[in-house]
Amino acid sequence: MVDLDLIIKKALDMGFSVSAKLDCSTIKLMPEVREMCAANKCNQYDKNWACPPGCGSLEKCEERIKKYKVGIIVQTVGKLEDSMDFESMVEIEKKHKNLFLKFSDELKKEYDNVFSLGVGSCIKCKTCTYPDEPCRFPQNILSSMEAYGMLVSQVCIDNNVKYYYGPNILAYTGCFLIE
Ligand code: SF4
Repeated sequence: MVDLDLIIKKALDMGFSVSAKLDCSTIKLMPEVREMCAANKCNQYDKNWACPPGCGSLEKCEERIKKYKVGIIVQTVGKLEDSMDFESMVEIEKKHKNLFLKFSDELKKEYDNVFSLGVGSCIKCKTCTYPDEPCRFPQNILSSMEAYGMLVSQVCIDNNVKYYYGPNILAYTGCFLIE
């Protein structure tokens, strides 16, 4: 039995700004989100096993996601001085990614089956093996929610988690599906 309240408390204790229950039945995988990946604005499309097309078709992603019933959403929320405050943007993202990696490792020690979906491409290795060699750590690969076709705002709203915090406030969102 997964004690989500306890996991949420641990996530908040570790430093996430927000943590809440995720009902996996609310997750919708959308081809439109994958099309946004293919536009390659982040420059990671076709460069990493965690991103499309390396992470598999939407059908394959769905197969993986549907094994889970519950999980949690986590967010790191931070304030910018103004919309051009790139330094703070980078700092908030770095804080979120570090917390996310650390918490993912902690959860995997406690639960047999944890699927972590965060932000951006997988940064577990200095250089990804894609596409020449298989992934070095297929059990610990870190894809983004978008790579799996999730619209982050929809997942948040359908689980009563705020997505927009107002002007000059940035929120990075990730989720952990737990069996
Ligand atoms: S674990 Fe390493 S090889 Fe696998 S996707 Fe991540 S960076 Fe690439």
